[in-house]
Amino acid sequence: MRYPSHLIKLIQVLKKLPGVGTRSAERFAFQLMEWEEEKLKEFGTLLSQVPEKIQACGLCGCLKDEGGECPFCNDPIRQTSKTLCLICSSRDAFSIEETREYKGLYHVLGGLLSPIAGFGPECLSLTTLKERIKTYQIDEVVIALGSTLEGDATALYIKRELSAFPIQVSRLAYGLPVGSSLDYVDGGTLARAFSGRASF
Ligand SMILES: [Zn+2]
Repeated sequence: MRYPSHLIKLIQVLKKLPGVGTRSAERFAFQLMEWEEEKLKEFGTLLSQVPEKIQACGLCGCLKDEGGECPFCNDPIRQTSKTLCLICSSRDAFSIEETREYKGLYHVLGGLLSPIAGFGPECLSLTTLKERIKTYQIDEVVIALGSTLEGDATALYIKRELSAFPIQVSRLAYGLPVGSSLDYVDGGTLARAFSGRASF
């Protein structure tokens, strides 16, 4: 027996969420059908307002409220900072903020280089990055990209692209996971931790 067609559509949409397979999508869909109509309408409105209510800052690409100021670019402490942290997506800024280690500016790249996914250098926000380095007299760019094949390739590409600027380009250190002993760490992580060792 087939599900009603609208339910199939709902399941297909839910399956697009990360980590959601068919079984979970079905469970979510059936759960949603239990909701009162009013609550469902509220949910629908919330979803439809996402593009309008949550906007990207035209300068750094981080998230801001509709018509509001960017909380990162307009922070008085950050405005005087000469350090710019390069991140893949706007979500990364929130993760870095949680560490309370960084008080500089951000720049969202918009993705990582991936020939398979058809994501080339033209998709990266490099023009605005270079403009910002000049305009704000940035003296350090911190590349905060993941330690994946794409992250490594993108970091190298950016390092080359920025070589003409009189700035320091650094990359987040890779080390041992907090609380782990050496026998549990894979060779690649250990090798990175070795090459990225710091004075102690
Ligand atoms: Zn901004």
